[in-house]
Amino acid sequence: MLSPEAVIVAGAAGMSAAGALFAALAASRARALADWFVLLAGVVLSLGVLTHLAPEALSLRPDGWAFICLGAAFGGLAELLVQRRREKMADPARLGAWVSLGALMLHSTLDGAAYSASFGHSEVSGIVAGTGLILHEAPEGVAAMLLALQTGLRSSIAPLAALAASAATTPLGWALAHGLGERAHGSMEIMFALSAGLLTYVGLRLLVSGWRAVRART
Ligand SMILES: [Zn+2]
Repeated sequence: MLSPEAVIVAGAAGMSAAGALFAALAASRARALADWFVLLAGVVLSLGVLTHLAPEALSLRPDGWAFICLGAAFGGLAELLVQRRREKMADPARLGAWVSLGALMLHSTLDGAAYSASFGHSEVSGIVAGTGLILHEAPEGVAAMLLALQTGLRSSIAPLAALAASAATTPLGWALAHGLGERAHGSMEIMFALSAGLLTYVGLRLLVSGWRAVRART
């Protein structure tokens, strides 16, 4: 008999994978629509953070906004640093997409830890928090796929990168948090806020890059 915790974590990974595969299919069918798709994914992810992840993080810790800002700033700074160092060597847009994919991967790993920590409090709190969290996993998978395509990876490799970044990391983070045990549960609120911040950065970046691409076409 599977525990509700295992079902929720597997469901989260499954939702991400479904989102990534859906985006892979959609992008291959309609290349002209891909830029609009990036813009839309940015809107959906940003709304998800605003309406769900950020309020949840703030309800767990009143000073959660500081960690949300920290997570978002970390993503932005990482992109800035990478682009400065490599500006003569590679396409900045592709490098930015790599950084975003990395931030998404980190966020998704923290998601796994958050599932583990919320079940650590009680099974009911785990099911409530987990069901809320699971909703953002599908757009997250879509975002991972779109970012993987923006990195310039071949279309045969990009889905694998997207699945690794968004679907495989959640069970990984969950297993890591289980390994850490009680210590991970104590820092759940901070991890959750940092994770919301990272997703803020990813959402905004998709918004900006999608908007630029759409404007360039028209
Ligand atoms: Zn997530």
